[in-house]
Order: sequence, then structure tokens, then C-alpha cells
Amino acid sequence: MANGYLVFVEQRNGQLRKSSLEALSEARKQAAGNAPVTALVVGDNVKALTVGINKCKPDTILVAEAAHFANYSTESYAAALSDAIKQVDPRYVLAANTAMGKDLLPRVAARFDAACLTDVVELRSAADGLQAVHPMYSGKARGVFAFKSPVSFITLRPNIFALSEHENGHHAVIQDLAVSPAKERAVVKGIKASGASKIELSEASVIVSGGRGIKGPENWGVLQNLCDQLGAALGASRAVVDAGWIDHQHQVGQTGKVVSPQLYIACGISGAIQHLAGMSSSKVIVAINKDPDAPIFKHATYGIVGDVFDIVPKLTEELKKANSN
Ligand code: FAD
Repeated sequence: MANGYLVFVEQRNGQLRKSSLEALSEARKQAAGNAPVTALVVGDNVKALTVGINKCKPDTILVAEAAHFANYSTESYAAALSDAIKQVDPRYVLAANTAMGKDLLPRVAARFDAACLTDVVELRSAADGLQAVHPMYSGKARGVFAFKSPVSFITLRPNIFALSEHENGHHAVIQDLAVSPAKERAVVKGIKASGASKIELSEASVIVSGGRGIKGPENWGVLQNLCDQLGAALGASRAVVDAGWIDHQHQVGQTGKVVSPQLYIACGISGAIQHLAGMSSSKVIVAINKDPDAPIFKHATYGIVGDVFDIVPKLTEELKKANSN
């Protein structure tokens, strides 16, 4: 009978994704000592990554290594994950709710005719298995789901689940996974990074976002200076993405990225429900808006009524002084 957890651990260019390690840590927590936890890493020359994966205390780490895994491709990675599932027979397959996780897990779930729930923000253990909490209707409601299929697939929202405390004595069993060749209809020959985003938005612990209140694309520098002082990623509302002021990869919200940073600073953003759907799970929200009745203030931990072009440079200046001390 299916038992335990299999966690797909994502790597890009030989770097482990923190959000995958959060998913693995959560699997370890849910399994406690009672159910096996297996991690799967796929790529070319990725064995060295098992050191980082081991810190989250899986029982076993499966390594699928081959030259054709160097770049992510849905078909070849789906073949690797499917083979791992056949070998491990887990009750739950977990991954981070990243672009890769959201692409891969539903496809493999369909192969196994299994349940798949994405963007989960809480896992609860019940007598008959896991229950998963998933925000719905742009975050206005939360659905609690139970799983009936023998194997079920779940992606976890980044920055919500805690990382495991590392124990020095833990040593996972490391095994190579032999993957049956996939019939690849599309092959990724290379990836050209746009270089636009210095820090990945969905994993950033601080985000400074701009909306229509920044007046025009020539003013991103004002927010970027604040980002530089805070080590923050730059986000945006859809209005400014649609206006062509910034690339879509920066968009936060229902039709953009869902983020949960420690600190979210919304600059000149009104707080439409579709924007809130992407950032309302941030730990601390600071809103800067010149309209005291802007809806964002109802959701902000701290609200500053004022002009972005007054407040943000002053904030940046103070942080610069603090950082240079
Ligand atoms: P506005 O609503 O125009 O707000 C601008 C704010 O800036 C105002 O509150 C104003 O008071 C303030 N302001 C102006 N000048 C200054 C200044 N100098 N200093 C300080 N404050 C100033 N939106 C998203 O963001 N993400 C999504 O993913 C998304 N998905 C959507 C999906 C659907 C199906 C639909 C219908 C809409 C979606 N939207 C989304 C759009 C959303 O409804 C809003 O239109 C959008 O979020 C508004 O962006 P904004 O806050 O930048 O602009």
C-alpha cells in the first residue's frame, strides 16, 4: 500500500530552490518518524546537491542524472518523476508551487489518474490522511481538501512552510534512479535569462512593488534604489504591466505571482482584490499611497499616507545611513 512522501526537489543551474527545501521540510514534519520521506533531484551533475538536501532529513535521496536533464523539460522530468513514484509508491507527492512545480505535478498526476492540488498554504494531519488548505476566490475564502486517490499531488506556496533544523548526525540513503527514456516531442536546447530580475520574486523575503502611482516607467529607479538598500525584489501591479512599464515576470496577483515575503512594501498601489490575492499572505505589509481611502490600507500592517516620490527617497536615504553604520 502507498505510504510516505516523495518530494520533487527543484534545482536550477545547480542551485537548490529554497522553496523545494521548505516542501521537503514540511514532508518530514508531517511524516514525523512514522512514514518514509524520499527526495528526488533531477539534473545533470547534481549529486553534490544531496549535501544540501540531506539537511532537511529525508530518509532517501533519489538522484536522476543525465545530460538531457540539464535544462528543464516537462516530458523528460515527468518521466523521471513517474519512475520515482513507481519505485517509491508514496501516498503524497510534494513540490514547491513554482513555475516548474505547477507545470510538472499536474501532468504526472494525470498520468496516475490522481488528485492534484496546487498553491497549498497549510497541511493538517487527520485520521484518514492529510488535509490541505488552499486559498480560493482571490484569497477571500480558504478551502480545506482531503485526498481520495491512492497517490495525491500537492504543491506548497513558497515562504510559508518552515525549513527543518539541520541535525549533524543525519545521513540519508543516496540512490541513483534509472529513468526509462522519455519520448520527447520538444527539446530545450538552451535558456537565455532575461536578466531583469536580480532576486526571484516568489522566494524573496522583502518585496518593493510599484503601481500606477509611480506615474511612468522612467520612475522605477526610485523603487529600485529602495530595493537595493533592502535586498528586495521588485514587484508590480497588473496595471503597470499592462501599460508596458515593466515585464510580466514582476507582476504580483491573481494573474501574476503569488508571494509571501516577510515584508511587502506597496508603493502607489490601490489594493484591488486581484492584487491582494497575490500578496495578502505577506507577514508585514507597508502601504504608501496618497489616498487615505485606498483599499490597500485595510490590509496593511503599516500605512503611510503620502506621495511615493516624497516617502520612498527619504526611506532609502535613512536605510542607506543605517546600512553604512
Ligand atoms: P490603480 O488602481 O490605478 O491605483 C493607483 C494608486 O496609486 C491609487 O490608489 C492612487 O491613490 C495611488 N497614487 C497615485 N499617485 C500616487 C503618488 N504620487 N504617491 C502615492 N500614491 C499614489 N492586478 C494586479 O495587480 N495583479 C493581478 O494579478 C491582477 N489580475 C487581474 C485579473 C483580472 C481577471 C482582472 C479583471 C483584474 C486583475 N488585476 C490585477 C487588475 C486590478 O483589478 C487593478 O486594476 C490593478 O491592480 C490596479 O493597479 P494599481 O493599483 O497599480 O492602479
